Amino acid sequence: MGQNVLVVEDEQTLSRLLTYNLEQEGYCVHHCNHGVVALQRIMEESFDLVILDIMLPGINGFEVLTKMRQRGIKTPVIVLTARNAEADVVQGLKLGADDYMTKPFGVAELLARVAAVMRRARSSDGDAVLRPGQERVITIGGVSIYPERYEVTIDGAAISLRPKEFEVLQYMAQRPGVVVTRDDLMNIVWGFDYVGGQRTVDVHVSTLRKKLENNPFSVRIESIRGVGYKLVQVRKALVHSE
Ligand code: CA
Repeated sequence: MGQNVLVVEDEQTLSRLLTYNLEQEGYCVHHCNHGVVALQRIMEESFDLVILDIMLPGINGFEVLTKMRQRGIKTPVIVLTARNAEADVVQGLKLGADDYMTKPFGVAELLARVAAVMRRARSSDGDAVLRPGQERVITIGGVSIYPERYEVTIDGAAISLRPKEFEVLQYMAQRPGVVVTRDDLMNIVWGFDYVGGQRTVDVHVSTLRKKLENNPFSVRIESIRGVGYKLVQVRKALVHSE
C-alpha cells in the first residue's frame, strides 16, 4: 500500500484532479472538503502528508494547521493558496506548513513537491532515531551537542546548561539559520499541553543566550520580532573587529 495522502479541498474539479494524479503516482489518497472534518480526521488517522486548501467551509486551512500543530501532530503539510496571496504564503509557513502551492499550479510541480516534502520528512525522522550504543553529536560552528549526555561544549570546553536550555539549543541546532517559532519550542520542549505560556520560552532563550555569548567559536540566537528565534554561527569577521 502506498503512502497516505489527505487532500483537503472543497473545489470538486481540483480535488478530483489531485486525487487522480496522486493515485497514478501510487499514493493512497483520502479526500475531505470541510475544515472541521479534516481536523478530526488528521487527529484520528495517520497520514503521511496533508494537502490543505485555505478557503474551506467550517474552519479555514490556517485554523486546521494551527490546531494540528498545537496538538503536536507533525504530519507534513502543503498549503494551497489563492493566486497572488503572498500574505497567505507567509502565514502558512509561519504556522508550520512545509511547502505551498499557489493556484493555479501544474500537476507535475505539485507531484515533485509532494515527493520532496515526503523525502524531507523521512530523512528528519531518521535523524531523530538513536540506535542503542551509538552516540550522536550535533555540531554547529565550534559548538558540539551530545543529546544522550545532555552536554554541550564550545571549542572543546564544557558549558553548563539546564535541561530545558539544552533542549531548546538542541532543537534550534538541528535547524541552523531557520526561524523557529515560540510555539514550536513550546510544543517540542515543554509539550503542547504545558500551561506556562510563551514567557517561559523567552526566559529560557535569554539565559541560554547569555551562556553562549562571548566565545568566538559559539553560536548566536537572533530574535525575529513577532515570530521567534534563529540560531546562527558567530561570524568570524565580527569577532575580529571586537
Ligand atoms: Ca477552497
